[in-house]
Amino acid sequence: MFQIIKSAFSNQHSLKILSVAIFFSLCIHLPAQEYQTVKAAKGDGIYSVLKKNGYSPAQFLNPFIELNKSKLGKDNTLIIGRTYRLPLKDTTTSAIPNKVSAPEKIQPKPKKLVYEIFGSKYREITVKNQDLDGATYYLMSGHGGPDPGAIGKLNGRLLCEDEYAYDVTLRLARGLIECGAAVYMIIRDPNDGIRDESFLTPDKDEVCYPDNEIPLSQLARLQQGTEAVNQLHTLNKNKFQRLVVIHVDSRSTKENIDVFFYHDKGSNSGKRLANTLMQTFMQKYATHQPNRGYNGSVSERNLYVIKNSIPPSVFIELGNINHTRDQQRFIIPDNRQAVANWLRDGLIEDYKKSIK
Ligand SMILES: [Zn+2]
Repeated sequence: MFQIIKSAFSNQHSLKILSVAIFFSLCIHLPAQEYQTVKAAKGDGIYSVLKKNGYSPAQFLNPFIELNKSKLGKDNTLIIGRTYRLPLKDTTTSAIPNKVSAPEKIQPKPKKLVYEIFGSKYREITVKNQDLDGATYYLMSGHGGPDPGAIGKLNGRLLCEDEYAYDVTLRLARGLIECGAAVYMIIRDPNDGIRDESFLTPDKDEVCYPDNEIPLSQLARLQQGTEAVNQLHTLNKNKFQRLVVIHVDSRSTKENIDVFFYHDKGSNSGKRLANTLMQTFMQKYATHQPNRGYNGSVSERNLYVIKNSIPPSVFIELGNINHTRDQQRFIIPDNRQAVANWLRDGLIEDYKKSIK
């Protein structure tokens, strides 16, 4: 068995956009004999190998992936013992230049991206527009790892909050990337991509960005996620950034709670974000289910993650996992997609308002 080692996900430079993008159809016509090669050793990742050999990871990450894509492991990991080519140092004109080294406007943006985190069916993404160009999102689904969060029941099966929140969050992430945003999934599952199933099998293998084991203690877990966001915030300073935290509530079986939005006291940007999202939901329900009525709300709430995170944030409760009507929002995959699309549209609206 090959040992899959340190993922390219686990370094920060490679993570500018959620993870590592593989760019398609790059034509690098260069003589093969000039490539330097390296053998991956234990603990090596693309970032560390580049750095060790005097390459700027920011500049050469994508050329390296392009050059070695047939030899990389899952999520662009290096496999111990395999030999990899180092990019030629004068390839910068034929490779897509990194943002850091090229003026924003001239740089051709890749139209096709691949992110393994979305799973085999959804890993390829076609960027449809640039509505969110310049925006960075941290998406954090509730709980995960040893903590399943709220647990509901339907037809004798258990519905775990962390799985449903994660699936909606993944769908949202994909939707944002399609609109040109940079997205970081803070809670990450190595093998659950977007799942088109009603009953999402609970597991405990989620990790916190980049690949940290999630502790059981609630406070430690919340601190871990918040810290991950705040570190990334520093990395992305001067950019437009928002944190979106997605949970599912659990209350009595009778209580239908709809989608609720919370923001931190004193954060005007967070408040505007929450209000814009709720207005979007009101409009969507009015259009798609005019007789339904929507009882969601926006309010301040003292919650660790939104209180301690640096970027403006919103905390969303998608509904009551024990209520029959709310459960339809979770167990029908199309409904999870619709919720994600509405959140995406709300975020686009918020971005437009914010950059005016
Ligand atoms: Zn929760």
